[in-house]
Amino acid sequence: MSQDSRALVAVLGGGQLGRMLAEAGRHLGVDCRVLVPDSDVPAQAVAPVITASWHDDEALRSLAAGAAVATWEVEHVPVQTVERLARLVPVRPAPSVLAAVQDRMQQKRLLDSLSIATAPWAAPADLDACREVLARLGLPLVAKSRRGGYDGRGQRILRREGDLAAVWQEFGPDGLIFERFVSFTDECSILSVRGQDGEIRHWPVVENRHRDGILITTLAPHPAWSPVLQARAEAIATALLRRLGYIGVLAVELFRCNDLLLVNEIAPRVHNSGHWTIEGSDCSQFENHLRAVLGWPLGDTTARGFSAMVNCLGTMPDPLVGDAPGTHRHDYGKRPRPGRKVGHLTVVSSTAIERDARLTALLKRLSDHAIPATTT
Ligand code: AMP
Repeated sequence: MSQDSRALVAVLGGGQLGRMLAEAGRHLGVDCRVLVPDSDVPAQAVAPVITASWHDDEALRSLAAGAAVATWEVEHVPVQTVERLARLVPVRPAPSVLAAVQDRMQQKRLLDSLSIATAPWAAPADLDACREVLARLGLPLVAKSRRGGYDGRGQRILRREGDLAAVWQEFGPDGLIFERFVSFTDECSILSVRGQDGEIRHWPVVENRHRDGILITTLAPHPAWSPVLQARAEAIATALLRRLGYIGVLAVELFRCNDLLLVNEIAPRVHNSGHWTIEGSDCSQFENHLRAVLGWPLGDTTARGFSAMVNCLGTMPDPLVGDAPGTHRHDYGKRPRPGRKVGHLTVVSSTAIERDARLTALLKRLSDHAIPATTT
């Protein structure tokens, strides 16, 4: 139980996002308490953890007790769990947000209804309908499970018609969508926050570099940043935030095709491509999410110079390998496992040239020490 002078935020999920939320709360006078189905989670180092199933009503009552508000750090929580929690404590963003975006098909419909551009898509109900989609959209296609996918999991690229039946067998029974494969210039994202009074602030658009569907590096601001790029991304995020009556931080992942932006997906939570904001922005995504859900005034989203964030996958590098001027190390305290996000490093500089030089040197040191995620 938190002391009276401190606010308590209940959080569904206790991964690294929950951990960084709790860390951000410390200097705000905010405590976090988390509920997770698994034991041994990153947030346990900084917040009390309730380990129970998402369907455990007693655990939800314990989570909500004394909390001013509840939120989530993972979007794959059952909507029913969030609705039950909302009867005990205000939940922000609202449970309806989760229902609107958890299923990729619903998410695409939401984007279509706002006339926001995406890759052409379809949600076929059977194998015959898949063949029609293939004829209409052409190859290659990206097949994605409607629910539960992340970091490129739950998706396949379909390059040959002959693979259609196998893809349908893999994803069809649980629901799938097909998207046309986009030959993008690069991938980017915008993170935005909306407060309870409806105020919206945006961080600068960033570039995200992936490998095998997993984010490796974020450059902030985007190297091709321009007022026009920012305005286009802000217009998309603003339309979504308003339609959803959203409170908190929202991430919109985008494909940039020269001047055109297509939405890849929406993440209704703090996001990996916003980790740079901890050191690289006046107010981090984590602090602003807490501020928004608590109904507090929002912090300044201006970037402090130029940042690069590098994910550490599999294992954390030796501290000396990651050590360099302007470099900040975040270790999530996870057990090493191939491909697992176990931490990140953020480089901050006053100029883009210096940031790029520091990033190149850092990637080289990581590669020399065979840190798997960062060898390209
Ligand atoms: P997602 O899990 O939907 O964010 O996808 C993971 C990664 O797969 C993205 O960051 C892209 O690199 C790639 N990807 C997803 N959808 C498409 C698409 N329609 N066209 C091309 N690449 C895609």
